[in-house]
Amino acid sequence: MYEQISASIDELLDLAEREVRSRFETIDKIAYSNQSRVLDAFRHHRVADYHLHSSTGYGFNDAGREMIDTLYASVFGTEAALVRPHLVSGTHALTAALFGLLRPGDHLLFLTGNPYDTLQGVTGLREERGSLKEWGIDTSVCPLAPGGQVDYEQAGRLVRAATKVVALQRSSGYDWRPSFTVDELEQMIHWAREYAPQAYIIVDNCYGEFVEQREPSHAGADLVVGSLIKNPGGGLAHSGGYLAGNKTCVELASLHLTAPGIGAEQGASLGQNRGILQGLFLAPHVVSGALKGSLLAANVFGRLGLKTKPLWTDPRTDLIQAIEWGSSEALILFCQAVQAASPIDSGANPQPWDMPGYDHQVIMAAGTFVQGATLELSADGPIRAPYIGYLQGGLTYEHCKYALKHILLSLHLNGLISIDDLC
Ligand SMILES: *Cc1c(COP(=O)(O)O)cnc(C)c1O
Repeated sequence: MYEQISASIDELLDLAEREVRSRFETIDKIAYSNQSRVLDAFRHHRVADYHLHSSTGYGFNDAGREMIDTLYASVFGTEAALVRPHLVSGTHALTAALFGLLRPGDHLLFLTGNPYDTLQGVTGLREERGSLKEWGIDTSVCPLAPGGQVDYEQAGRLVRAATKVVALQRSSGYDWRPSFTVDELEQMIHWAREYAPQAYIIVDNCYGEFVEQREPSHAGADLVVGSLIKNPGGGLAHSGGYLAGNKTCVELASLHLTAPGIGAEQGASLGQNRGILQGLFLAPHVVSGALKGSLLAANVFGRLGLKTKPLWTDPRTDLIQAIEWGSSEALILFCQAVQAASPIDSGANPQPWDMPGYDHQVIMAAGTFVQGATLELSADGPIRAPYIGYLQGGLTYEHCKYALKHILLSLHLNGLISIDDLC
């Protein structure tokens, strides 16, 4: 019985794989282009063995750390970059950017609808101690139009003389909207330059790095920000975040991260330089495998009749694959199957919990080598109707495929789908 179901699922996955294959070629081309840009940077700046080593204490003149900043600036096409293991998460990197750039009385405008859950606490959109709001910095959100596009008419009404930062979010995060491609972000950047010329334009680039051939910084953003335990860490960075942008923005953020007068000059790299460098080298390839996994998942779940965002045929600009499960039971089984198919902690059985920074219960599956790393295969979702689950990452495409098999098996054995009807 089990043998037969297992064989049927393999057959289904092969079928799906054949259908998505043509899109894999595009992903391979993008990976080659990004790998070339990364290697050009390593060679041009003459990365050497001693850059792999690390400093202690204050970390003055840490050659590896300085090289990493230089490489990120080069890869992102910016004047400067700040890449640090001391940035504890993407949220922290974005917080350094916002607190670095904004002063009391200034105004922050989100053009791409509600920001990612944790940013709502940082800004004070959700009441939180220490938020921008407590410092007298006001935040406006321009809701997206019903079709998911930026509502420029309303945005025009929200801009003020005090608007100092216009913020864009590339990835949908926990929102059922399409993510924004770099071309789309470029239009927003042009709009912001014209209607808020006094403002810095920053992009939350989380999950987007190396999915396309260009980054939002190549499209004119002043600052792009992300997490090293997502795409650019390549699965090897143990912790950290990055900011890449013009000199002023990067410096202002660095002064907030460490201290006024110190900025990027201090910060021992504590053994992290090797992983951050090797991770950057690997990132374009690893991202391409994860993307292929997302495409395959979208195709397979589409075959089950589930709504997915994006569809497997849609253009992609980030790693997140959203699936509408329709019941908390299916969402929870989905996450538990991803956990069970993981290399680490496969015996753990994730349950919904009240995670700090989120206002609904969340279930998360992460059987990862680096805790919480979402370039590694992971799944999560807030426990709220219509029970959307998010699947992202995968250090190898094969792991994604293996996990898909486990998800299908679990749904079948629990009577939520019938594999026989699909083959
Ligand atoms: C992951 C993510 C962040 C930051 O999240 P952390 O968990 O703090 O690293 C911010 N914005 C988006 C869109 C994200 O996906």
